[in-house]
Amino acid sequence: MTEQRRKLVSEVPGPRSRTLQAYREQHLPPGLGSTLPVFVERADGGVLVDVDGNHFVDLASGIAVTSVGARAPEVVERVRDQLDRFTHTCFLVTEYESYVEVAAWLNEHTPGAHPKTTALFSTGAEAVENAVKIARAATGRPGVVVFEHAFHGRSLLALAMTAKDVPYKAGFGPFAEQVYRAPLAYPLRWPTGAENATAEALSALEELLAGVGPETVAAVVIEPIQGEGGFVVPSAGFLAGVQEIARRHGIVFVADEIQTGIARTGRLFASEYDALEPDLVVTAKALGGGLPLAAVTGRSDIMAAPRPGSIGGTYAGSPLACAAALGVFEAVAKRDLVGAAQRIGATIRDVVGPVADAAPHAVELRGRGAMMAVEFAVPGSLEPAAEVAARISAHCHREGVLTLLCGTYGNVVRLLPPLVIDDDLLREGLGVLTQAIEEYA
Ligand SMILES: *Cc1c(COP(=O)(O)O)cnc(C)c1O
Repeated sequence: MTEQRRKLVSEVPGPRSRTLQAYREQHLPPGLGSTLPVFVERADGGVLVDVDGNHFVDLASGIAVTSVGARAPEVVERVRDQLDRFTHTCFLVTEYESYVEVAAWLNEHTPGAHPKTTALFSTGAEAVENAVKIARAATGRPGVVVFEHAFHGRSLLALAMTAKDVPYKAGFGPFAEQVYRAPLAYPLRWPTGAENATAEALSALEELLAGVGPETVAAVVIEPIQGEGGFVVPSAGFLAGVQEIARRHGIVFVADEIQTGIARTGRLFASEYDALEPDLVVTAKALGGGLPLAAVTGRSDIMAAPRPGSIGGTYAGSPLACAAALGVFEAVAKRDLVGAAQRIGATIRDVVGPVADAAPHAVELRGRGAMMAVEFAVPGSLEPAAEVAARISAHCHREGVLTLLCGTYGNVVRLLPPLVIDDDLLREGLGVLTQAIEEYA
């Protein structure tokens, strides 16, 4: 196992990373961003090692993907075994058992006791688009309702559903029609106060539906905790209210659990916190343990709507990715990663909470389990302070801790450590973060 400690042997980025960065700039377009321009040589547990030999504390997990670590033995062994047997058949051509096993696990473990089936895909955006296709086929309706600050991916229908203009959408339109955006009950930023957020946001949703005609809406799609939008936990009762409204109008209720799913939030699925029973659940990111895998799981009758041959894809449910997912399921159970996510969340609250409380520019520490974030604002106001978040994150990077930003206003530092991170290493990484928060007060 890679040595689990923070260690800097050069400046960040180091000389070898800088050379590779120049190589990259020669051959890659600038539209591909990178949070931290270091090139990784290996990664394991809670550590990323770059080509200069620097060890970074990983508080990102490749955006909530490597929850079981970047080379969990359960994943590596199964993928290696699969590589020795075959790499690909295309499930639409000839089948293999692991695809069905992944589907069976998701059918059993996603929220709701109703009969379910699952279709596999390769990326989150692709799965979101398929959830919409399935909902349209099931209802015969075109419309899609999404929320402020939502992120659902970068393909064109998914982009229509994503909220943030720069950098995701600007210049890439026109977008799909009949995608409607409702207010999200964002407690910190609800104009009339957090205590009114649920009731007012739900009546705004009702109004929007009345305006477009609820009988024209196929799906309501929502992240139980928003990811790119700022790790926003909607105010209590909002998610259940949205589900109830969707039900009442015969609209398919879709939970986008791509970032929140598979133990990340201290439950297997974040929908469990609100006792939701989504008609469709979309998963990706941590599902494949680092290999590209996504899924739509849902009510068997809804899932049965698309006619035979109408969904799927060349690589969708790749045998390598299915082998990896089975390793993820094993690791989640064997290592109690749901419990680990709860402990990580408690540690973050312990270590970062008091510092965030005392810092005038830190307006909120929020999230669930190992999906936590700090939002920054100009002291004494809610005016987003993207500059402060960027400086704090850059400080962490220089000191060997990989943090990510998020939020519609770019003013949120988010923490997504691998669920297998050592407690000491986590505390060390958080210590660097709290030092940065204090320094930029
Ligand atoms: C990452 C993400 C997506 C898009 O997934 P990709 O695999 O990047 O296409 C969609 N929804 C949510 C909530 C996400 O976090």
